[in-house]
Parts: sequence; structure tokens; C-alpha cells
Amino acid sequence: MNGHTSRTQAVESITNRLPASLGKTESLDTIWAVDVFNLAKMEKALSKSTFASIKKTIQTGDTLPTEIADEVAEAMKNWALSKGVKFFSHIFYPMTNATAEKHDAFIVTDFDGEAISKFNGSLLIKGEPDGSSFPNGGIRVTNAARGYTAWDPSSPAYVKHTENGATLMIPCVFASWTGEALDKKIPLLRSNHAMNKAAQKVLTLMGETNIAPLNSSCGAEQEYFLVDAKFASARPDLLLAGRTLFGAAPAKGQQFDDHYFGAIPARVQVYMQDAEDQLYRLGIPAKTHHNEVAPGQFEIAPYFEAANVAADHQQLLMTVLQTTAKAHGFICLMHEKPFAGINGSGKHVNWSVGNATQGNLLDPGNTPEENLNFLLFCGAVIRGVHMYGPLLRAVIASASNDHRLGANEAPPAILSVYLGKQLEKVFEDIQAGKLAPTDDGGIMDLGLSQIMNFKRDSGDRNRTSPFAFTGNRFEFRAVGSSQSVSGPLVAMNTMLADSLNWIASKLEAELKGGADKTAAVIAVLKELMSLHGNAVFGGDGYSAEWHEMAVKERGLKNLPTSADALPYLQDKSIIKLFTDTGVLTPVELNSRYEIYAEQYLLSIEVEAKLVVDIAKTLIYPAAISYLQSLSAANSGLQAMAISLDNATAKTVATEANAMMAAVAELSEAMEKETFGSTEEHMQYFAKNIRGLMDKVRVHADTLECEVADKLWPLPKYQEMLFIK
Ligand code: ADP
Ligand code: MG
Repeated sequence: MNGHTSRTQAVESITNRLPASLGKTESLDTIWAVDVFNLAKMEKALSKSTFASIKKTIQTGDTLPTEIADEVAEAMKNWALSKGVKFFSHIFYPMTNATAEKHDAFIVTDFDGEAISKFNGSLLIKGEPDGSSFPNGGIRVTNAARGYTAWDPSSPAYVKHTENGATLMIPCVFASWTGEALDKKIPLLRSNHAMNKAAQKVLTLMGETNIAPLNSSCGAEQEYFLVDAKFASARPDLLLAGRTLFGAAPAKGQQFDDHYFGAIPARVQVYMQDAEDQLYRLGIPAKTHHNEVAPGQFEIAPYFEAANVAADHQQLLMTVLQTTAKAHGFICLMHEKPFAGINGSGKHVNWSVGNATQGNLLDPGNTPEENLNFLLFCGAVIRGVHMYGPLLRAVIASASNDHRLGANEAPPAILSVYLGKQLEKVFEDIQAGKLAPTDDGGIMDLGLSQIMNFKRDSGDRNRTSPFAFTGNRFEFRAVGSSQSVSGPLVAMNTMLADSLNWIASKLEAELKGGADKTAAVIAVLKELMSLHGNAVFGGDGYSAEWHEMAVKERGLKNLPTSADALPYLQDKSIIKLFTDTGVLTPVELNSRYEIYAEQYLLSIEVEAKLVVDIAKTLIYPAAISYLQSLSAANSGLQAMAISLDNATAKTVATEANAMMAAVAELSEAMEKETFGSTEEHMQYFAKNIRGLMDKVRVHADTLECEVADKLWPLPKYQEMLFIK
């Protein structure tokens, strides 16, 4: 019986692996943001007036006067050249959750063939990659392919070091020649703008006079798995699909709850420190790291930043985690569900809105005045989640995230808001009219007058809620680990803008009608809660009762798969939301739907092909080898008049046949090519193809438990999950 060499070699070499040595570690002071062309560096390099303009643009989102671009470009180039950089690249965020770069040399030659470095304002401001080579949902056809990248001064340029040398990276937006957004940054900037406009209206009505521009903030908690690269290279499913399509449950999984916050393995510690040093150089404030629930699973959370910068940093963080993993002999899996039966990975997106004058508007304040603002913004979020729950579900929809949502490890696919006991009671009282203003403008004392002066609720967390208030921010907990945070941020900012606009018009009417401020706020929130209070839920989001109640009594949508959720991007109310707020035109929104639907279909198609391939070429042959050795042993024994119990051989033969029958069924199902609509196509994949993939897997996983270990071709769960 010959062993399966790639797996056994991997096991052997990994047993002897030692943690990489980190070399010298540098102090935070010496490395912090050294590779970033940040405000401090600009102040040194630019004239006073240019620096003042760019600082204003960064802080307020105002347009940068074009005449200063040349000076900024020159300063940026000189700084980069002093760091040994030869190339620059516009970096942008197409609609793939990935990051795209187009590198250009600084070098040009003059008439005499001398090399000179050239980089001016127009090269800084604008680039021209091919618009049709990126997903564009039909906006760009190949013969009209022009796309533009344009510098986003609000996100700092930086130097990226690779084996290949260093490159100056310039964060950019990416649009078509006709001006449509082809990326994730444009809508994010627009959604901030819309939210700011609406918030200004509300705050002005509330009597605020000095109101700085509002911005949203984002702190994302990234979960990921590390698997030894040697194992991964023996698993085509991990390499191509990012998750295991086969694999029997190990005897020991996460049932002991002994991994969460446990001691981090030495090899992983060295990896984390290496990655964090790189993040610090890039000015990314990596703050916490720890083991996660599943074995082999970890989390890193940077400190929160302005949403636009946080989104760029989040993309960079994913890249750094992945490239650093390679250097340490790991692969870093960002997939939402790399191992069946083991917790998957998410990315909690913590979100708040605020400004320099009123502070964080989702932070309950110390005075009744501040709390009125807080209650309005909080109410706006409740209304947003209620009206646009399906949008929130759609922006986190992907083939991979579907494995988590709805399962008992991640928030359900029903969008509701968790407020915490104290705040939920405040809103309930407002809705029930218990918290009503009296004639003299105060709050009627129903034993609740202290309410207008409440302190932040540091109490319980609700792990089962997809959207939870956590004291001074909301935490969108259903976002997938591999996703860009931009989509969720756009949805949250836009729904908030819409709700604040609604609140502003109601508030204005109340105030015009003679109500004082407190009475007006309470009246608006009372109406808001009677219309949208159904989205507030503090109970167990995993329970069957909630699933039933949410849909039947509360009228909320349960959208378990992406096939159910994505079509909402074409819903009239969502088109209107994005059009009214100026965040996405109907054409742009539709192109996004097309792209996400296509990505959904493509990723399931790749997986289905892999299932067929691995079952046929790796698992079936292993089963046959085992049957051959059993039958050879049996023949030999018969010669000695001993007979072998043939139960195992029977099971292996039956399971191998059943697996191949399921493979045939899956292959045939994949041949269907004509569908009435994209929705029908997605439903077919969600219901039929995924079901058949699981059917193949059940038999394969049974075989894994029967076939001799040394014949089994794929590294097993227990080998991959426990890092030595
Ligand atoms: P937990 O695991 O308890 O949810 P973490 O400390 O791991 O908390 O992560 C919380 C994240 O929320 C961090 O990124 C933190 O910077 C971020 N955060 C804190 N305050 C705010 C805020 N006002 N707005 C946005 N994000 C915030
Ligand atoms: Mg969290």
C-alpha cells in the first residue's frame, strides 16, 4: 500500500517547523507612519498656503484647488525618491473586494537620452486604466473602455515595499469616461457627503449654530484563519476556492472553547508582530489581536478612523496579512467559512458619525440637550434598518458569507437592531407616550425623568444581533471577513442620510407648529417608533421563535441566501434611496447588482467544478486503492483459510459508488445553461447546485473516515487546524 506523498510529506515537514525569527523589533516611535506622506510630512514639504488648502480638503472634504496639484506632486515625488522609490501607482478599489494597482515609472528620457524623473500635478490627479477590464456590470464595453482613476487627497499616499522594490501608492477613485462610478470609493465619499448634508439640517433645526462637517467613522474587526502553506498546497480547494470543499469533522474541534483568547502559538505571534510592524509603518493603527473561537482562527482590530481612510486601510490590512502569511509559511484564509462545522470568520464593522463641534452623535451625552441630538440620530438608525434591512442584507451578500448567515454562529439573515436594555426602554416609553413633554416644556415625570440624562449603557452585549448599539456606535456584525467594508458603510451612511432628511422635515413642521424643541423631538420620535419600532429586537436572534415572529408579526424579511437578497438592489425603494441622496444613479446601482450576481454565480461554479474534479481524481482513486489492498489482503488470507470480514470493503464500495453517482448528478446539473433571468439562475445555484455539492461531500467525508489514513490524499481537519 503506497502512501499519498504530498500529504504525508506535508505532515512530516510541518512537524519539524520552527517559528520564524523576527530579527530585531523596532520601537513604535521609530516606525509609526514612516512610509506615509501624511500631514506632518506635507507641512514640512509644502508652502504654507498649499498646506492649508490640502489640510482643509482632508478635514472637510472640500475640493482641492487644481493649481496646487503640481506643488503637491513635486513634494510627494521628492519624498518618495528619498525613500528609494522608482515607481508610482494609482491604487483603486474596483467592485471585486480586491485592490487594483497600475504601476508607472517616474522615469522619462529627455532628447539626449538622459533619464530624468517626472511626476507632475496631472499625473498625480489622473490616470487611465482600461475601464472594461474590471467588472463594470455592462457600463463599459470593450470598444468604449476608457476609465479614469483620480487622486483622493483625503486618503494619504504611502510607500509600499515588496520584494520587487518600493512603489509610491496614490489612493484614487475609479470612474468611467462617462462619469459613472466603477469602484467602491466614489459611493463611499458620496454617502458621507449625503449624510453630512442631512445631519447639518437636523442639527441646525436643533438650534446648533457652529456645525463642523460631519464624517462617518469605521473600526473593523478582521477575523482570519492561518493554515500551514504545505497543507494548503496539497488542497486544491483551499488554493482555488479559499475553503475546504471536503473534510470530515475532527475528533477535537472547538467544543472545549479553549482557543478563544487562549495563548497565541509562538509561530503565530511572530507572524502577527511582523504584520503589525508593517501596518504601523503604513500608519494603520492595529490595536488588538487575539485568538478567535475556532482553532487556527485569529482576529486583528485596528483603532477606528474616518470611514474613507479606514476602508483603504482595511484593504491594505488584508493584503499585508496575506503577503506576510506567505513569508511565514502560512496561508491566510479570509474566507467566511473555510471549515464546515467550525466557526467561520466575519468582520464586525463599528460605525459612528460625528464632527469636531458636536462630537460623536451616537454617544449619549451628559446634558439633556446632547441627548436630544443623540436620540434623533439613534432613531434615524432604527428607521434606516427597518426601511432598508434588505439593502443591509444585500451589501453583505456573497456566496461565501451565505455559509455563516442564518447558521448558529453568526447573526441571522434577518436585519434587526439591538439597543441594549436601557435605551430600548427609552424608545419604548417614547413610543407608548410615557415620555411626553409637559406644558412647561419639561419631561413628564413618570419615574423616568432621569431618562433624558442617561449614561451610556455599558451593560450586556447581544452576540446574536446583526446590528447592535454598543455604547457609542453601532456594530454591524454580519459583514463577511473577505468583504470590503465600503459597501456596508455606504449602506449605513445612505440610510442615515435618508432618515435624517425625513426627521428634518418632520422636525421643521413640529417647530413651525409652535412646539418647543423637546416636544418636537419626542413627537417626531414617537411617530418614527410607531412606524419603525418593529426593527428593534433585544432577544435571541438565533432562536426559531424569532425567525417566526420577525417575519409573521414584525413584517421583517428573512433572506437566507444571496440569491434571495441581491435582487433587492433592484427594488424601487432602494433605487429611490440612492437617487434621492445622490449616492448612486439607477445605472450605477444596476451595474452593481449585475456584478454581485455574476460574482455569486462564478464562485459557486468554480466550487462545483472543484468538487467534481477532486472527487473524481483524488478521492475516488484513494477509495479504489484501499479496496485493492483490502481485496489483495483477503485473497492472501483465503490462501491461509482465514476470511476477512468484508463490512469495510462493502461500505467503501457503496460510498464510492454513491459519491460518483452524486458527482454525475452534479455534472449534469451544471450543464444547464439557459435561465429566464439572473434571479432564476441564482436561485438554481443556491438550491440545486449547492445541495448537490453537499451530497457529494457527505459520501466523500464518510470515505475519509473509512479509507486507510496513509492513502488519504487531502490534509485532514485535525492536521490543518491545530498550529504547532
Ligand atoms: P469588541 O470585540 O468588544 O467588539 P474591539 O475592541 O475588538 O471590540 O473592537 C472595537 C472596534 O470598534 C475597534 O476598531 C474600535 O476602534 C472601534 N470603535 C470604537 N469606538 C468607535 C466609534 N465611536 N466609531 C467607530 N468605531 C469605533
Ligand atoms: Mg466586536
